[in-house]
Amino acid sequence: PVAARVRHLTKTYGAGAALVRALDDVSLDLLAGEFTAVMGPSGSGKSTLMHCCAALDRGDSGEVWIGERELGRLRDAALTRLRRDEIGFVFQSYNLVPTLTAEENILLPLAIAGRRPDREWFASVIGAVRLGDRLRHKPEELSGGQQQRVAVARALVSRPRIVFADEPTGNLDSRSGAEVLQLLRRSVDEFGQTVVMVTHDPVAAGYTDRVVFLGDGRVVDGLRDPTREQVL
Ligand code: ADP
Ligand code: ADP
Repeated sequence: PVAARVRHLTKTYGAGAALVRALDDVSLDLLAGEFTAVMGPSGSGKSTLMHCCAALDRGDSGEVWIGERELGRLRDAALTRLRRDEIGFVFQSYNLVPTLTAEENILLPLAIAGRRPDREWFASVIGAVRLGDRLRHKPEELSGGQQQRVAVARALVSRPRIVFADEPTGNLDSRSGAEVLQLLRRSVDEFGQTVVMVTHDPVAAGYTDRVVFLGDGRVVDGLRDPTREQVL
């Protein structure tokens, strides 16, 4: 089954001579239970694609489907519910709540949804991100790498159906990076989650099932089945 379907997605910024085509007619399927890497040069549209797929931003034209729902047809309340119940997002800038401890940040999505954490999975996630006593600290007391690991844990504890991670290992040493990548891999293998990760790191891409390459807002490589995915 297809977890997310992107069709003819276009998004521009600016106008006139300053017009930037961040996404230019992108079509793509993301299969349920698949771990995908999105790679490409800086400015090629990777973050924009992730934001549009995760219902954090809208394209100018084209469609994004999450499961059976086309995002453009959903009202704000439905979009909020979708983001809360089915989507996890690891922001490049972490976006942690400064007044909450690391642990409270990690539990926030569950708290908002009124759910309890699955104890075993919570322990695995916490173990893998190796925060130890830093869990009781506020974000400003944590290093960039520690904040990144909090952001990854926050996106995974509630086991959302689909997780978007924008360079989740960009700020980590190789050991922490490997643990985060193994955690993402396990989310896919043990819980059938769909994970999409932007990365510049070929080692990180090696953990995934598939690599999609963007260049100048277009998919330049990595379509599994061009006749189905890239509707020409
Ligand atoms: P990346 O590593 O994905 O290239 P950037 O550092 O370019 O990230 O962008 C970080 C943030 O700034 C993103 O949220 C992006 O939408 C925004 N951004 C990027 N380019 C511009 C721009 N030219 N003008 C305004 N905002 C931008
Ligand atoms: P990537 O994640 O691959 O680095 P982005 O999706 O961040 O690429 O950006 C794609 C293009 O869109 C870049 O040229 C970037 O400068 C531009 N862009 C992104 N966000 C904004 C923004 N908020 N305002 C203006 N330009 C933007």
